[in-house]
Amino acid sequence: MVPVFDADDDLAADVEGDPDADKPKEACGVFGVYAPGQPVAHLTYLGLYALQHRGQESAGMAVSDGETMLIDKDMGLVSNVFNDRRLAALSGHLAIGHTRYSTTGSSTWRNAQPVYRSVAARQFALSHNGNLSNTDALAEEAGMLPGTVASDSDLVAELVGREMLAHGADRGDGRDLEHALESVLPRFQGAFSFVLMDESHLIGIRDPNGFRPLCLGKLDGGWVLASESPALDTIGAHFVREIEPGEMLVIDASGTRSYRPFPEDRIDPRLCVFEFVYFARPDAKLYGQSVHVARQRMGEQLAEQAPVEADLVIPVPESGVPAAQGYARASGIPYGDGFVKNRYIGRTFIAPSQALRAKAVQMKLNPLRDNVAGKRLVVVDDSIVRGTTSREMVRMLREVGAAEVHLRIMSPPYRWPCFFGMDTGDRADLLAANMNLGEIQDFLAVDSLAYLTIDRLFEATGARGAGFCSACLTGEYPVEVSVGARKDVLESNDMPASNLDRLLHEA
Ligand code: SF4
Repeated sequence: MVPVFDADDDLAADVEGDPDADKPKEACGVFGVYAPGQPVAHLTYLGLYALQHRGQESAGMAVSDGETMLIDKDMGLVSNVFNDRRLAALSGHLAIGHTRYSTTGSSTWRNAQPVYRSVAARQFALSHNGNLSNTDALAEEAGMLPGTVASDSDLVAELVGREMLAHGADRGDGRDLEHALESVLPRFQGAFSFVLMDESHLIGIRDPNGFRPLCLGKLDGGWVLASESPALDTIGAHFVREIEPGEMLVIDASGTRSYRPFPEDRIDPRLCVFEFVYFARPDAKLYGQSVHVARQRMGEQLAEQAPVEADLVIPVPESGVPAAQGYARASGIPYGDGFVKNRYIGRTFIAPSQALRAKAVQMKLNPLRDNVAGKRLVVVDDSIVRGTTSREMVRMLREVGAAEVHLRIMSPPYRWPCFFGMDTGDRADLLAANMNLGEIQDFLAVDSLAYLTIDRLFEATGARGAGFCSACLTGEYPVEVSVGARKDVLESNDMPASNLDRLLHEA
């Protein structure tokens, strides 16, 4: 089958040499606000600013005053895209916003969101976090030629628009968008937290597994939808609840209406466990649990699972900080800083040679010689993807005199592809997909290495009995992913044939 849109070549080139390329990549932040009488464009700007960590490639928003919808979006960070002049032009009483990291479709202006459609006399806009896993099948069913749409989000908008055109206008209740969504949503598979709007409705939707977060907040005289709760805090809204897996919530002048458009047997909550480990902000709440406290517990669990005699526990900043605090508390080993992080480095640094790549890591993280020299160190990090940054960090620590380096990782080895909105990068480069523990330890040149077990990770979240996706860590996929899609991903990443056969056989 011909793919309905092209893979992203630009992105692969962009990450080369970027220390952040050695981390899992998130697939967007979404935001929406319905608040008559309030400056919704400014509120959306602040909300997107709080969600910037979920995507830095492009930012955009759509605003409606009840009759006219305006879209403003561009490549770059939220603060680069918007300024007072641009925001002043966006007046209305409801708005949605988006920050993008592309996992499908190219990193170009065409794919910046919100996606916009004009359908007969109606307009709507869509912001999407996640990845649909049946895009090719949907496009083929709809008779679309390759190139008709530019991404899975564009495909969703196209299908919703076609449904509105076919059936919407004849109902006459002004709810064309929600009727079209009710009809189309059950056909979508994979990960999708959507925030949509037409001229007078704000809509939040979470897929039946709830892979990606989405929460509801209350603002004076209005409502807010956001990927993470800190975006609510930022604009003075208070957290009401998470949108439930499989729920569609419509907000308009009459209040809120909740729908369940998916068949009951598809509802199976599976929040991405990496939201707890790395993606979400530490001040976010997921499944009612503080992410910061959960990360501290991951460190405590690591100390219990993999104790070691050492003089100092240091984090790899920023996401390793709470876990290192937890490790120190549980082990009784003092906590301290071992690296200074340069806060002003963006994600566009490109280093073509190994020597320059090493410098790229040091530009971002510089060891504190006086703190680490002569010490036996426990170094706590959230995950290892390619291992290039970890290896360079260990080399730097030894260069400034660390006596021993014991690496502790807050998650199990990351070795399976994600089909639900995380960029797996080039699978042939995934350290744990190609080496066993001993080989990784040798490659990183550490004195000891331990990954937190999956059971301890679940325990540390504090969300007992809650459902999680952990497919990239365990190979157990919570929903069926077509063999064709799996094969495409694995083959396109040049997996060794033996591994490919094993993955296809086992998954
Ligand atoms: S495969 Fe991994 S990254 Fe993807 S949704 Fe599942 S846990 Fe998250």
